[in-house]
Amino acid sequence: MPELPEVETIVRGLNQKVVGLKIADAWTDWSKTIKTHMPAKFRREIRGRKILRAHRRAKYIMMDLSGGKTLIIHQKISGHLLYGKWMVSGKKVEPAMGGPIKSDPYNRFIRFILYLNNGYMLGLSDVRRFGKVFLGDTDKIENINEIGRLGPEPLSPKFTLAKFKELMRRKRGVTKKVLMDPFVIAGIGNIYSDEILWYAEVAPTRRVEKLTDKELAAIYKYIKFVLKKAIGAKGDSLQDYRTLEGKFGNYQNMQKAYQLTGEKCQKRDGGIIKRLVIGGRSAHFCPVHQK
Ligand SMILES: [Zn+2]
Repeated sequence: MPELPEVETIVRGLNQKVVGLKIADAWTDWSKTIKTHMPAKFRREIRGRKILRAHRRAKYIMMDLSGGKTLIIHQKISGHLLYGKWMVSGKKVEPAMGGPIKSDPYNRFIRFILYLNNGYMLGLSDVRRFGKVFLGDTDKIENINEIGRLGPEPLSPKFTLAKFKELMRRKRGVTKKVLMDPFVIAGIGNIYSDEILWYAEVAPTRRVEKLTDKELAAIYKYIKFVLKKAIGAKGDSLQDYRTLEGKFGNYQNMQKAYQLTGEKCQKRDGGIIKRLVIGGRSAHFCPVHQK
């Protein structure tokens, strides 16, 4: 599932490619994608609106539109937004350009399209069809879905060590699960919780209430470090995620723990990365240096 770095990469791409353009129309073959409107009403509401800016809250992509509306896209498990050209006939969508939009099979499951006034489109490729689109009033964004209840943004300057410690001291439970809880901290999922804990030298199974001040400080430091590193790499494309142009991100080549079961720990401490299932999600860690 795309996490904060992948969503941030898409948002930066949107700010480069589509700000200032107008939405000419919309299409979907899967009416459940649009949560706030029936498709016909959605098309009427969205046509002619100008894209003013793109931003992000947790894993939600937000595009502020003219007329006080905001379009929100949550890519969920396998969705990723693409900038390209397609031909639609009935329920069939074919790429109308070369490159990764056409050649990469992960970019070929287009379920939702926004037509732009420069001839290009934004297409949501989503093999599992869990991606969601919301349209609401910009000034009431917090009322949409769970947005108002989300935890703080980990890369915000307001997310200080003191704030992080205060949040952790209020929680009980397994550290990996607490880090992945969007109502505690926004945007960290399975990939980056494994990576953060590998760097912080803390086992994912540790109880958060038993972590020392030093361990909390290390986790805090590596939350910022790993998320920034992954944004710099344009995200992790081990699975479905691609950039807005349909290209691979690069973090999958930098992974230290996630999905590396059976491989030697890159700290060369003799450890072999182990996989454990915690609350239905798998954790990957080095049993030698992660205590
Ligand atoms: Zn190790």
